Amino acid sequence: MFDSWRRKRTLARTRVDAGLWRRVVVSLPFLRGLSQQELERLRELAVLFLSEKEMHGAQGFELTDQVRLTIAVQACLPVLNLGLDWYEGWIGIIVYPGEFRVRKEEMDEHGVVHTYDEGLSGEAWPGGPVVLSWEDASSGETGYNVVIHEFAHKLHMLRGDDGGFPTPRDGMEEQPWFDTLEEAYQRFCDAVDAEEPTIIDEYAAEHPAEFFAVMSEAFFTDSAIVARDYPRLYAQLAQFYLQDPAGALPHPFPPGEGRGEGR
Ligand SMILES: [Zn+2]
Repeated sequence: MFDSWRRKRTLARTRVDAGLWRRVVVSLPFLRGLSQQELERLRELAVLFLSEKEMHGAQGFELTDQVRLTIAVQACLPVLNLGLDWYEGWIGIIVYPGEFRVRKEEMDEHGVVHTYDEGLSGEAWPGGPVVLSWEDASSGETGYNVVIHEFAHKLHMLRGDDGGFPTPRDGMEEQPWFDTLEEAYQRFCDAVDAEEPTIIDEYAAEHPAEFFAVMSEAFFTDSAIVARDYPRLYAQLAQFYLQDPAGALPHPFPPGEGRGEGR
């Protein structure tokens, strides 16, 4: 737990180079909708994030200031109005230059354990590190964002969910949240089963937790599509994140609502 005085001191002592900040913001087109005030808050959160988390380069990958800031900014976007305490309980971020291979084991129905290698662009461990591929983390692509994806997993892991849909934020009504997620997930899985083309990454059909992570990516980086095709889900995600990136809701969230201590 980080005291707010410590955070204030960190902010007072840390300067972010203005040129670097501009380069990073421009490289992430989905930040375009943020107000000057929101961008300022995002920069502060990123500074605190970098001081409280430990980032390591894997396979000799060099973590330049640009790499660190690009990852921090994307990681902080989902908690812009929630606060950094939502990422407590773990500190490590491991960055590979590109896709990384992990060894997986799976037991089949005969009890035989199969070992195989899988190429991944990101991974989040409960209570442990987030692992990212820089190649994927720096793409700035619309609708696809491995950093937001993995940090969305961190949010539902913090909520102590059982691997299904995350529990809603305190103060939200549970029934509409779960009903909306369930309905949207079923509709999405049906579309994938019917081999209908989907704008949202098909990987969302893998598991309820993946649906939440993939929809969170889309909510922040392709918000108009989510607001158009999944208006009820969009409204629930907006309640959860206290953000309305598509500007689709009648009343904007008052600044500061739900913001964590020391933000
Ligand atoms: Zn995932």
